[in-house]
Amino acid sequence: MITTMRRRIFISMFICMFVTGLLFYFVLSSWLPRQNTALAEDRLKKSLNLAAQIVSLSPGGNWQGIVDRLAEASGYRVTIISAGGHVMADSTLKLDDFAFAEDHGQRSEIAEALRIGFGFSLRHSSSLTSHFIYAARAVPEHNIVLRLADPVKQVIYPPWPWLLLAGLMGVALILIASHLLANRYARPIQEISACLPNLEDSCLGYPWRALNCDPWIKQMAHSLETMGKNFQQRLEQLNQDAMRLKSLLQSLGKPVLTINRQGRITLCNQAASDLFGKDLIGKNQATVLRNADLLAAVDQAAGGRQAVIDEVRLADGQIWDAVCSPILDAGNQPEVVVVMHNLTQLKKMASMRRDFIANFSHELRTPLAVIKSAQETLSGLMGGNKDSIRFLESIARQVERLQRLLEDLLALAHLESPEWHCTAHRPISARQLMDETRLAMEEKAEPANVKLQVEPMNDDLSFMGEYNTIERALINLLDNAIKYSPPGEQVVMRSYAADNRLIIEVEDNGPGVAPEHQARIFERFYRADKSRSAPEGSTGLGLAIVRHAALLHGGEAGHKNQNESGSIFFIALPLL
Ligand code: ADP
Repeated sequence: MITTMRRRIFISMFICMFVTGLLFYFVLSSWLPRQNTALAEDRLKKSLNLAAQIVSLSPGGNWQGIVDRLAEASGYRVTIISAGGHVMADSTLKLDDFAFAEDHGQRSEIAEALRIGFGFSLRHSSSLTSHFIYAARAVPEHNIVLRLADPVKQVIYPPWPWLLLAGLMGVALILIASHLLANRYARPIQEISACLPNLEDSCLGYPWRALNCDPWIKQMAHSLETMGKNFQQRLEQLNQDAMRLKSLLQSLGKPVLTINRQGRITLCNQAASDLFGKDLIGKNQATVLRNADLLAAVDQAAGGRQAVIDEVRLADGQIWDAVCSPILDAGNQPEVVVVMHNLTQLKKMASMRRDFIANFSHELRTPLAVIKSAQETLSGLMGGNKDSIRFLESIARQVERLQRLLEDLLALAHLESPEWHCTAHRPISARQLMDETRLAMEEKAEPANVKLQVEPMNDDLSFMGEYNTIERALINLLDNAIKYSPPGEQVVMRSYAADNRLIIEVEDNGPGVAPEHQARIFERFYRADKSRSAPEGSTGLGLAIVRHAALLHGGEAGHKNQNESGSIFFIALPLL
């Protein structure tokens, strides 16, 4: 990391320096020479003016002597040319060379000086074979032209070797700087990143504050340390939660297991191992559960919908219920949790209870029938004794009540028995059912002065069911409606379709059911108003039979209060 960073710093600094050097070069090689030339030109002109003054004041004749002294004093090349262009004296040419010197009258600076008094040029000197700046001035007192020249090389070119040396020193400096910067930034970052994979333990003991690095890296290190501590706390919390969950699962006593999207067991408790076998983790659900209903329920839950199986008989012969729920917040890989509950004992007890009630009710029927016939015989024998008649009537009422209770108990026991499922089901017309029950209940409605009505309907809706069971349920609802309706009121029956279900309603104008009782009136022996003496014919089992009948047909029974008074009881069944 350090090497990479050093290399990066070096390359970027080198590029910066190279670009700066190029700019510098262009400035030096274009602007500086121009600047230098202008300065040299200016200096040359001033020296020329001074030299021209001196020459004009001199007596003339010994031009070479004057030229040599002027050259020595100014450092320039000094030439005196006659008005005809002939070189009369020059500080760098020997006297013998004058004869071979070209006619200088054609040189631009000389020609201009002869023409307008002053001339200037920058060009190559054919006599000295190098570049010069020339400045010439006419000295009319002696009819000559005085010219000063300065070699271009001296003034134009920047000190390239020095600049090169400076460049090399710059590269060396960059190398040192990149090394120091890399050490300052990359080393601490390297140490921090080496520590990150083991954030949960080694980071906490790391001397972050002792790092010799920039404050912002220290700050970053400090934040990482805090993050590590939080992370560790969370981890501990998660571990604790996991431990708690594990203990909870183990102590639950019910088999619980989770299944992932691939159908593999990911978690199970001891009870699940006891039921399905050891070493379940990682096994395929099909080899573990080995029950089509259970597997279908798991599939449904994997699709996002909870599935409940009321009764599943496993290979061991035991009866279980199972709740399969999707674990929705598990992201892209939803798991299914299966919780099972052993129903074997419950089912056994329920069956015993059912058998007991059925047998008990059956056994009571005969003595009750005997009591009833004895009471009737006694009533005939007693004659007009009022007290005897009162007692005998009371006996008769209680016997009838007991008989009704036994009938209802037997009816419930029948609905709960497995035999009920063997009874024949057939399509039943709602209209026919309502008409027939109305006729059957007229006998009871008339003495109570209650009018029974079937609301006319457009469609004849029908459903699949066991006629006697549903008829009995409807009779119970009508019976209640008649019982609780004040005399002179009417009870209405109606049917309609809603949400693919057939709804049969029985509406009365009785006292209604208080909201706090509504949830419980379908329970066995539950009475809404316990203080009120039960009406004639009440057993407390009527609505329990209604609900059971509806459930057996895949429907439900319910109640809704009228706005002011009265109730509506309904049975909802799947439409045919
Ligand atoms: P019961 O034989 O006592 O009528 P049910 O199971 O049929 O037993 O009814 C349970 C309770 O529900 C009743 O005791 C009564 O309080 C209430 N109930 C049932 N039907 C009606 C109704 N049509 N109007 C008012 N209350 C009713």
